[in-house]
Amino acid sequence: MSIQVFGLPVSRGVAIGRAVLVASSRIDVAHYFVPVEGVEDEIGRLREARDGVAHELQALKHELPAEAPAELAALLDVHLMLLHDEALISATKVWIQERHYNAEWALSAQLEVLARQFDEMDDPYLRERKADIEQVVERMLRELAAKARGGGPSTAVAAKAMRDGAGEDALILVANDVAPADMMHFKRSVFTGFVTDVGGRTSHTAIVARSLDIPAVVGAREASRLIRQDDWVIIDGDSGVVVVNPSRIVLEEYRFRQQQSELERARLNRLRHTPAVTLDGEAVELLANIELPGDGPSALEAGAVGVGLFRSEFLFMNRNGDLPGEDEQYEAYRDAVLALQGLPVTIRTVDVGADKPLERMTQQELRHEHGLNPALGLRAIRWSLAEPGMFRQQLRAILRASAHGKVRILVPMVAQMAEIRLIQEALARARQQLDDAGRAYGPVELGAMIEVPAAALLIDRFLQHFDFVSIGTNDLIQYTLAIDRADEAVAHLYDPWHPAVLRLVCETIQAAQRARRAVSVCGEMAGDTAFTELLLAMGLRSFSMHPARIAAIKQRVLRADTRRLAVHLDEVLSSDDPAQCVARLLGGGLLQ
Ligand code: PEP
Ligand code: MG
Repeated sequence: MSIQVFGLPVSRGVAIGRAVLVASSRIDVAHYFVPVEGVEDEIGRLREARDGVAHELQALKHELPAEAPAELAALLDVHLMLLHDEALISATKVWIQERHYNAEWALSAQLEVLARQFDEMDDPYLRERKADIEQVVERMLRELAAKARGGGPSTAVAAKAMRDGAGEDALILVANDVAPADMMHFKRSVFTGFVTDVGGRTSHTAIVARSLDIPAVVGAREASRLIRQDDWVIIDGDSGVVVVNPSRIVLEEYRFRQQQSELERARLNRLRHTPAVTLDGEAVELLANIELPGDGPSALEAGAVGVGLFRSEFLFMNRNGDLPGEDEQYEAYRDAVLALQGLPVTIRTVDVGADKPLERMTQQELRHEHGLNPALGLRAIRWSLAEPGMFRQQLRAILRASAHGKVRILVPMVAQMAEIRLIQEALARARQQLDDAGRAYGPVELGAMIEVPAAALLIDRFLQHFDFVSIGTNDLIQYTLAIDRADEAVAHLYDPWHPAVLRLVCETIQAAQRARRAVSVCGEMAGDTAFTELLLAMGLRSFSMHPARIAAIKQRVLRADTRRLAVHLDEVLSSDDPAQCVARLLGGGLLQ
């Protein structure tokens, strides 16, 4: 039966494919396709893992001390029985044979099916057996991972080429939640879209989805409960609708829309190397937001004239607490600088905390674990200043990279005047340490993210201490409106059009211009065509966004006349409904 689920559209386009349900805790399990000729070997791996675990459980049983409670031996027997149960092993083999999933993926796919069946049981005793089957599968996954070390695709998701080679259906990931650190695996993913139960429009999980340019819907609440393994799913990343098991006619309609949006994309791509100049001759700088040095080439390819935001924290994630050292960071920053071939690279110092913990944690785990709101806690520059050695190490690495090209340092979440002094001292010390060590570095500008209302309100004073500022609208909205950007329950109140937000953005841009300091916007607002004319009217000439958004924004810039809205700016800013006011002033036609 066809059903529809509604969520928040976070990454545009339409994806159509088979659902792959993955528990949030198992997203880092390897997902790749095995070629037809490798299917038998893969089943062999499964068999070996089962035998290995059976051996382990037998040994455990054997070693139980005589005084151990009888329940323990009984539990091990239950696990041994489940291990040999046809519902687990035979059905897992089918995923390998028919879908060509690797053993780990097949096993976790079957676990999802069984877990669902247990959840639906009336008998509470039987329902609780779900935990046993989960434990057995976890043991097998560990066994598979241990044996796979060193051979086969070891990353969570293997190259797309394998999927294409196997000629499989497109796949849609369905999960309760995906941690930002896990989203990084999707860079080389087999998935062509995803849907999650939780998350907000500017949560970092959504931001990474946009940077990957794959259709995505988050905050779809019941999605992972309503969608079943292998269901056909359509993700409409423009409207937030997820259609499960669509009728033929609906499927055809969406296939048509998918083709249309691909054509539109190809058309926009032709603007790649056209300079972004408005109708009234104003040159506009379109920069890229990147997460890893490897994203540099795609930024250039998209026509970016530099990197306006390199979110360096992604280098610090997925490492089990082992942070990257100075040399490792230096190499990463240098690679990004070299990839940009002389264009400027703005490296933001580490912004961990809030919804980007160092360890891989989903939103729900975070909320559950920390209770307090981590967005108001020790994050971003607060964390860096609390770890001065680590902060200086990062500054030295960035300074060293500046010997290879134009580099700017951007500091996240500055809110206090005292922080500014500490940042400057840390930078001076980092330079001194490099001088003492005889290491080369170039001239580097220092900038602040304006993303806390306190900084926007004191912008004139902040500007005296920084070479440039970059407005982080994602957090500025969160902190101005007191709305957790990652919480789908309040997502409807997260309003970039709120007059208070627009006023802070406008005043920051204009104050920077008065002080003759460079200013850009690097939050999601910069990549949203609905705001392009308004930001231009406020005087903004530098926008930083995901490479995938550059062409669409460029098209908007090419069609814009900055004078058109500028004369009505006061009217827009004093309106109770600025979105509607802008739509009216632009004749409606330019807004989507
Ligand atoms: C912002 O807050 O707008 C921003 C660009 O930074 P991040 O999304 O990484 O918090
Ligand atoms: Mg921010």
